[in-house]
Amino acid sequence: MFIERERMSFKKGFTLIELLVVISIIALLLAILLPSLGLAKEKAKNVLCKNNLRQYGLCAEMYLNENDETYPSAWDSLFKTRSSGWCQWHDEENFLDKRPDLAGPLWPYLATQGIHLCPTFKRIGKEYGQNHPGHNPNIPINPQYSYSMNILLGPGYAEKRTRVRRPMNTFFFAEENMWTIPGLNSYVLNDNALCTIWNTSSPLDSPPPYTDSFGFFHNSPKLGKLVGKSWSEIKDMKIGNTYAVFTDGHVDAVTPEESYRRSRP
Ligand SMILES: [Zn+2]
Ligand SMILES: [Zn+2]
Repeated sequence: MFIERERMSFKKGFTLIELLVVISIIALLLAILLPSLGLAKEKAKNVLCKNNLRQYGLCAEMYLNENDETYPSAWDSLFKTRSSGWCQWHDEENFLDKRPDLAGPLWPYLATQGIHLCPTFKRIGKEYGQNHPGHNPNIPINPQYSYSMNILLGPGYAEKRTRVRRPMNTFFFAEENMWTIPGLNSYVLNDNALCTIWNTSSPLDSPPPYTDSFGFFHNSPKLGKLVGKSWSEIKDMKIGNTYAVFTDGHVDAVTPEESYRRSRP
């Protein structure tokens, strides 16, 4: 009688225990697979971002060859960002298809759609873009570019390639942070220039906080918890990185604390 009943329940389908075992195995497999899928996605974004910057490096090479080895001013380098307010980087009305007069001297060498925006930045920019100084909340955040040039290469500082003494350690274009970090920087991406110095009359060895710093939104699993914290609170944590192309053309990962050291020509 007992055996009969067992057989019957087998015919009906799975027992509750069997079902639970199957569900927990699926859950376990998902738990193993999902993070590695996320990791693969993050790696793909890193590769795309580094490729963008590599093209910036090639552009510099061509531009300098044809322009007496002289760097342009960072603010006007790729997009003339001094002319029309601080929301220009995310304001469709100022995009080059509508305003070709805002193209900077580097633009003819980099006139490729899709390489001016880091794939990681697309989300970061939408989420934190309203934090920049002088932001007009009526202008939607639709970023046109996310890389900024080192102001210390332009007029008042290095000016010429031959005056860059540490090409491997002086960045050309880099990803800028999207929120202020008290104790490290005071400004965020708002133009085409990354300034680790207040203005062209500031001494090169001026201490932090700087106006701008490198960002850390790549490879940063705890990003949400780090935003808004001061530099002393996060500097010993694993905060992630962003990328920069250097004046010798190589692309490297950079962190905010390197902003000073890796900007000085
Ligand atoms: Zn704005
Ligand atoms: Zn990037």
